[in-house]
Amino acid sequence: MSDTNGTGGTGGTGGSGGTHKAGAANDTPRAGGTSGGLDAALFTAWAEEIAAAVRADRDRLTALDSAIGDADHGANLDRGFTAVAEALAGGRPDTPGALLSLVGNTLIRKVGGASGPLYGMAFREAGKALGDAPTVSLADLDEALAAGLAGIRKLGSATEGDKTMVDALAPALRALTQAVQEGQDPAEAVGAAAEAALAGAQATISMQARKGRASYLGPRSVGHEDPGAASTALIVRALHAAVSRTAGAPGETSRWAPEGPA
Ligand code: ADP
Ligand code: MG
Repeated sequence: MSDTNGTGGTGGTGGSGGTHKAGAANDTPRAGGTSGGLDAALFTAWAEEIAAAVRADRDRLTALDSAIGDADHGANLDRGFTAVAEALAGGRPDTPGALLSLVGNTLIRKVGGASGPLYGMAFREAGKALGDAPTVSLADLDEALAAGLAGIRKLGSATEGDKTMVDALAPALRALTQAVQEGQDPAEAVGAAAEAALAGAQATISMQARKGRASYLGPRSVGHEDPGAASTALIVRALHAAVSRTAGAPGETSRWAPEGPA
């Protein structure tokens, strides 16, 4: 449970600022400008969607982890995101960055194993990248998720093909970056990312694990979907659900308009 096998320790991430340039390159204004449209309510909805999705799929995630790990991934994430939902019920941060930091800190506190520190790091780095802007743009979100992925890579030193959560998150981010560059609307863009994450998770079935507990199995890890990649696909799908719901809500469409009515 506590063996992170290559996650490089769970200590504090320090205060290394300026991480938001880790991945996506674009010329759009930074968070805090008037182009932003994603607010703390949207990020709160995302966290709540994740909690519900993890709860619904807890047994599937645990079954995946029982095949190539120690059968705790569903329980680990359910514990973590239940704690997130409880924290949010007691008071919501009022910026997207603070919300993501709360998620990250809660996961680090509540979830053991490899996935707690890795997801915790990812949400913390993403939150740090968003700073204290009250609303952020889709391009800002893309940069923040790139910072999250960079955090996972730094802590776990996994690359694509190692059969980990990176194999779902990296293609999701590529799809999101491309959609942002093409000017797609948020629901479409995040939908493309969710599809890519799912395909990435499914592609782990044929991989041999080179990181984490599953790597102990060597060739016997082939033929099973990686549980962390599967949960990453859930997390990105939850973002799509939150964005679609918010964008589609009556009277809410102006949320996405750069110069919509106040
Ligand atoms: P544990 O393996 O400690 O029991 P979990 O079962 O909660 O922790 O999480 C396992 C998942 O963590 C794996 O399926 C994999 O996706 C991810 N993982 C493990 N090690 C690494 C790593 N070094 N880098 C990235 N992801 C990793
Ligand atoms: Mg496990």
